[in-house]
Formats: sequence, C-alpha cells, structure tokens
Amino acid sequence: MRPEALNPLFVETDALEGVGPKLRKPLEKLGLTRVRDLIYHLPERFVSRRAVETLDDAAEGEQIVIALTPVEHRAPRLGRGPYRVLAQDSAGNICALTYFGRASFSARKQLPVGEKRWVAGKLDRFGDMLQIVHPDHVESESGATLGRLNEPVYGLSEGLTQPRIAGLAQQALARVPDLPEWIEPAHFDRAGWPAWRDALQLAHKGENPTARDRLAYDELLANSLALMLVRADNRRRKGQPLKGDGRLRGKLQLPFPLTGAQKRSIAEIEGDLVQDAPMLRLLQGDVGAGKTVVALYSMLIANEAGKQAALLAPTEILARQHYETIRSMAAPTGVEVALLTGRDKGKARESILMGLLDGSIDIVVGTHAIFQDTVNYKDLGLVVIDEQHRFGVAQRLQLANKGKQTPHTLAMTATPIPRTLTLAQYGEMDVSRLDEMPPGRKPIITRVTSMDRMDEIVDGIARHLETGQQAFWVCPMVHESEVADLAAAEARYAALKERFGDAVVLVHGQLRPEEKDAAMERFVAGDAKLMVATTVIEVGVDVPNATLVVVEQAEQFGLAQLHQLRGRVGRGSEQAVCLLLRGSTLSETAKRRLALMRETQDGFRIAEEDLELRGGGELLGTRQSGDTPFRVADLEQITRLLPAAHADARLLIERDGGLASKRGQAARLLLYLFERDWGVQLLRGG
Ligand code: ADP
Ligand code: MG
Repeated sequence: MRPEALNPLFVETDALEGVGPKLRKPLEKLGLTRVRDLIYHLPERFVSRRAVETLDDAAEGEQIVIALTPVEHRAPRLGRGPYRVLAQDSAGNICALTYFGRASFSARKQLPVGEKRWVAGKLDRFGDMLQIVHPDHVESESGATLGRLNEPVYGLSEGLTQPRIAGLAQQALARVPDLPEWIEPAHFDRAGWPAWRDALQLAHKGENPTARDRLAYDELLANSLALMLVRADNRRRKGQPLKGDGRLRGKLQLPFPLTGAQKRSIAEIEGDLVQDAPMLRLLQGDVGAGKTVVALYSMLIANEAGKQAALLAPTEILARQHYETIRSMAAPTGVEVALLTGRDKGKARESILMGLLDGSIDIVVGTHAIFQDTVNYKDLGLVVIDEQHRFGVAQRLQLANKGKQTPHTLAMTATPIPRTLTLAQYGEMDVSRLDEMPPGRKPIITRVTSMDRMDEIVDGIARHLETGQQAFWVCPMVHESEVADLAAAEARYAALKERFGDAVVLVHGQLRPEEKDAAMERFVAGDAKLMVATTVIEVGVDVPNATLVVVEQAEQFGLAQLHQLRGRVGRGSEQAVCLLLRGSTLSETAKRRLALMRETQDGFRIAEEDLELRGGGELLGTRQSGDTPFRVADLEQITRLLPAAHADARLLIERDGGLASKRGQAARLLLYLFERDWGVQLLRGG
C-alpha cells in the first residue's frame, strides 16, 4: 500500500484547476497523467530576458521585454506570408511583430493600434527591419511582463502552451508534501543539496544544477534500492542447486570450438547453478557473439541434473528460430525439445502441456505463452530469457515464482550497454560478457552516402537483389511523432514498390501482430526480397541471406541503434554491406557518430562512445525512449551520480534490509515516489 503522505501526488491531473478532457490528451502524450508526473516534468531550459527601454539598447538575437505601441497591421497579401504588426518603441524605432498561420488571430486582438503593450520575445532581423516572431507574451501592464524576466521552458505537446504547463506545474508543486530525508545524512551534507521539497521548487524556478542533481540522485537511489531489494530477496529464496555431470554436453557435436568468452561465460553460469540461491545472471553479447550456444550449454546442465529448462523469446518468429537451432544442435544428446507459442491450439498444445507436466520434454522454447497459468512443469530448473530488455523487472519476478522452488534465471541481451548503465539497468544481476566474436567473421563493409544519390542507391539495390540476396531498408525516425515516422515509411515503401513490386514488404510497429508476422515470414522464407521497416527489425530476425542494410537518415539514429541495425546483416558467408544514408546538413556529433560506425564494429566500444557523445552536450530531447530506465536523471548525471547512489543504497540495505528504521521508512516513500514499489513488496510485511 502506498503511504498516505504520497496520496496528493498520485491523484490524476484532472484534480488540478483547468484540466478537463481537452487538456488531458496532450498531457498524457507527455506521460503526465498524475500530479506526481508534473512535478517531475522539469523545465528543459530557462529563458532569461532583459527589460530594455528602447530597441537601441537591445542586441539582435537577444531575449527582451520592451514596451511597444502598435502603429499598423499588415495582413499578408493574397493570403500568403506572415501577418505583421508594426510597433514603435518610446524613441520612435519600428519593430515588426510577426505571426504565422493561426497565431495572427490573437495578434489582431492583443495588439490594437495606438495602445501600449509590454512584449516579451526574441529580437531578430528580417531584411532591414527588426522583428519579434511570435512574441512569448503580450501584456497590457508592465508588472505582468516584468515578472517574467526569467521563465522555464517545458517540453510541450500539441495543444499545450508554455504558460499553461507552467501554471499546472505551479499547482502541482503547491501540493507537494514535506517528506523526511531519505539520503544518507553525511552524503547529503557533503553534497550541499537542498531538501527534496525545496529542490523541486528550485528546479522549476531557475537554472539550478544542485537542485537538479538532488532530484536525479533520488531517482538513481530509488532504482538502486529496488534492484538491491530484488537481489536480497533472491538470495533468501530457496533455489535448487544443479550439478551437471557433463554426459549430455559431452555428446554435442558443434562444428566449431567455443570461443574463450563463451567458455568463460559457461563456467560462470555453471558456478552459479550449483549454489543454493537461484542464479540471476545477465549474458551480454553483441549480435552474432554466440549467445545461443551458451544458452544451450546452460540448459543441458539443467537437464543433466534432471531438471527441465525453458527458453523465452520476445516474439513468435524468434521463438521459432531458436527452436530450430536448439533442436538441431541438441539432436545428438537425445534431449526432447519442444516449441510452445500462443498460436499452438488444440491437440498439439495439449500434448506439449502433457510433456511438460510429465517431464518427457526437457527443453521448451517459446513466447510468454510458456508461463501462462495453464502451463505446468514437472520440475523447471532454469529459465533463459532472450532479449532481456523487453521484459521488466516485475515480469522477471513473476517468472521467478513459477516453480515450486525458484528456478535459476539467465537473461540474455544483445544490447551492449556501457558499464554504468548496466549497473543502473541490471544492478540486481551478475553479468557475463561475450566480448569476443567467433573467428572468421567477415567485417561488414560500412559506407556513408548522401541521400541526394537516391537513384544510384536504388540501382545498387536492384543489382543486389538480382544476385538472389535480400536486403533491409530502414526508414528514418522523424522524431516529431509516430505518425510522421509511419508516413515516411509508407512513402518509401510505395516508391520502392514501384520499382520492385511484390518483392517488397513493409513492417512497422502499428501493424497487427499477425500482419507483422506474415510479412516477416514472407521475408524469412525468401519470398519477399526487400524489407522496408521502421526500427522494429532491431530486435530480431535472423536471415543470413539478407546481406545489405540501408539506413535512411542515419544521422537521426543513436550509435547504439545504428549498431543494432547493422547487426541484422553479416550472418552468412557472403560479404555484408551497411549503407548509411545521410542528409545534407550534419551536426558535429552526427559526423562523429557516422565516422565511428565506419571505424569499428565493437559493440562495447560503440556503447561507451555513444554514452560520451550523448552525455557531452547532445541536444536535450533527443534522448531515445527506453534508453535508460530514468526520466529525471540524464546520461551525464547517471554517469556522475550513480556510483554514489549505488553505494548509498547498498549501505542502507546492509544496515537495515527490512527498511524499518526511520531512514528506511523514508526510503520506502522514495520507492513509491519513483514507482519502484515492487522493491518494497519484496520486504516482509512491506
Ligand atoms: P547471438 O544470439 O549472440 O546473436 P548466435 O548464437 O545466433 O548469436 O550465433 C551467431 C552465429 O555464430 C550462429 O550461426 C552460431 O552457430 C555461430 N557461432 C556461435 N559460436 C561460435 C563459435 N564459437 N565459433 C564459430 N561460430 C559460432
Ligand atoms: Mg540471439
């Protein structure tokens, strides 16, 4: 149960004055559904303006507040161009107040000729005329405007304005209760941070790195605490030590020797499995690093110990692929491997359920269907989860409760994340890294080409398809909205279809699962040659015959994403190519990103540099969702503050694992505040 003190923060936004059905939508779009969300919707930046007497005192490009008197309204001729209001300062200088589109309606009302107004905005030049485009404020009294010399700028969505959201933020802040301090006192003093409630007020009021650090630290601390509670809970659980005798593994006839990294990882897993506490381990390895074999070895150890193992894949297609691979690799061992997905119905499904219950199936591969309530195991010893990032901690916990005793868990991810973020995201797990690629891989040729050469590019694709090989075409992320992304993908699809006809399929996130699977299957079967996709192929399909990947507007993608996309090819024996199409203007960071892509294929290195590039002053708002589990802390803060937050959390758990002390109680509030309360629920009597 959420502590009562927090209730005022967890009411819906419509409890605030002025929020009705019309405002709810744009707020929801920003993820702001409750008062709590609003207080943590921190300003992206602040504008500070200078009050000036006359235009002569102001510089071009400066944010100013100035008294102006409109002298003339100029409507656009033939309905084209902006609406301009010419206005005069006290010295007689003229400045245009310029409005585009619908904004001109308010200009007509707010700026009657001959009446003095206080105008706030950025001074610009248009030809030889000074202008302010879309003034931020137009007031008839100096007081109202001068109170706005320093103002927050919030992230907006369509239907919201700055004053609107600023007003809501103020209302939300007024409801913030006083809460006891949860940060370790010595650390709190050393850092010189404000108390939580003050920090919130300060962070909304002006540029205040100290306040923002405190709030970011809170979020990191909540996360670390929750992960450690999971870890502590896991230690207390009764697992089942699994000791393999090697009899099944010895029968494998792999066509290759294991890499050093694979051997090391398998040894680490074997070491965990013999422990009393259930294993909680993450296997991190780039695409193609050979995680499947490691999973197979682990599952065979479970089988040798007389237990069953389950491999959970995020999609139907991946489940199928894993099933085929595992079954053929495991064939010499004689273990029984089955596939179970949501699609299996009737008799086939019944017989698999029987097999799981009577223990005749040793390994089951499938989607989340393998953990439905109707599925019962004779003796499940190990769960392997592929593509970990698709599953939240809460789901992981649910899985852990499936067996009579908690099964061991091996999670696998192909997203090579930097060490700091690994700690933030998987702090409750031990980590094995496959940091060595199997030998003999041909490096993927990576080229950067200008979008302007589209005709040549399409010709190149035609030649590529003629050889019988397949290709991916990844559409740009337009960032503005999902709809815009979709529109871009559909347009590209239509254009390519003109040239290649039915050989092209389109896959995107808005398709119904069956449609998506059908399109994917046509491509996997080789029936379709060119797959046009939004980034859904990121997690994904293994089509060795696809040897070319084109990424449109590559500069829009983060490094980690580009790396994932490139990893879709280069899985067969043919030379693979990655073609990065770029627009005509590139930021410095974008240039460095693309250059790095050409330079290396080492996922871990790319991940580290990605963090650095983005931490180092990359634009706000370009953060990719799902990148980090955080909303308040940015990458730079994560890197700087996480180690201390982690240590703080550890100390607290060591001293007061039940969070029963005064500070422990405060920490509970923190966990609820950041919705890491699954951590609290693990506490006895929590
Ligand atoms: P991941 O799941 O990590 O992306 P996979 O397990 O699918 O990678 O392996 C990619 C390919 O590499 C597979 O074809 C697999 O058979 C092969 N492979 C795995 N380990 C080795 C190895 N030690 N030597 C050579 N090839 C390997
Ligand atoms: Mg894999």
